[in-house]
Amino acid sequence: MKKTLLAVSIIIAMICAALGADYIIYEAKAGSVKFVTIGTGGITGVYYPTGGNIAKLVNKKKKEYNIRCTVESTGGSVFNVNAIMAGDLEFAVVQSDRQYQAIKGMSEWKKRGPQKDLRAVFSIHPESITLIAAVDSNIKTIEDLKGKRVNIGNPGSGQRQNSIDALESAGLNYKKDLKAENVKAAEAPGLLQDGRIDAFFYTVGHPNGAIKEATAGARKVKIVPITGVDKILKKYPYYAESVIPVKHYSGAANDQDVKSFGVKATFMTSAKVPDDIVYAITKEVFENFEQFKNLHPAYETVTRQGMLEGMTAPIHPGAIKYYKEVGLIK
Ligand code: GLU
Repeated sequence: MKKTLLAVSIIIAMICAALGADYIIYEAKAGSVKFVTIGTGGITGVYYPTGGNIAKLVNKKKKEYNIRCTVESTGGSVFNVNAIMAGDLEFAVVQSDRQYQAIKGMSEWKKRGPQKDLRAVFSIHPESITLIAAVDSNIKTIEDLKGKRVNIGNPGSGQRQNSIDALESAGLNYKKDLKAENVKAAEAPGLLQDGRIDAFFYTVGHPNGAIKEATAGARKVKIVPITGVDKILKKYPYYAESVIPVKHYSGAANDQDVKSFGVKATFMTSAKVPDDIVYAITKEVFENFEQFKNLHPAYETVTRQGMLEGMTAPIHPGAIKYYKEVGLIK
């Protein structure tokens, strides 16, 4: 009997694979349990613990929903959008600017066109374009990056384009005016401490492990303000002014909060992910909002209503169902 069942599931899985029906495969492989994976970012960012926090809330109700959530560390927002579209991830955290570009077919998605099946679930914490520099490199403003070795971020990260935009607003071309590195944010603090780079950019919520690591070493580092960005704030609707609180980084050579600009982290999925799964995840996060909010200090300013702002992609019907039920939307 067991053997027949196994044979049947293998055949079903093969048919599903042939049809490209990824979501059915998950169920066929493991009986009634639905496996979903949340894509995040580097393990020293805020996306990774955020994915873990969401997964924890949903996995607690495994008996009720039959959903098993796992979290994956990834290269960041652009990778995440593409992995959702390819069906390799069911959910992921994505910068609001990357969501905007993907749904409209801009930037990295110019050639492939609008990513029509991308769906929003909710927004999460604010993220700031953060510039960290070694004090001995004499970088006091973004203009001082001229001629320096600077990590702008790996292709696949959300922040890479933010770094390029910030540099452009300061009149710097990342190809001509500096030695741009393209490594992952998780590697940048080590490179800075080892003297192999002068500075790095990271678009991230605060506090986070990467900036703690960068500011805790022997080489003194500071968070550099990014000002004079009015033009890009006007040009791009997804950017807003932000302030980086320095209270979290006692090792940083800053005595005041630092001005910059930023975006929002958002929770995304695909139109192909079933409504009941999206509904369950949305419900667990909102019903346990206070508990969720306490799971990471980067959520300090997050409100339930704010979690419905900053989305440009259509909201997934599974999430809409929950928002209507509780009157968050009409
Ligand atoms: N905003 C970054 C990116 O999309 C990731 C930040 C994080 O992991 O917290 O590349």
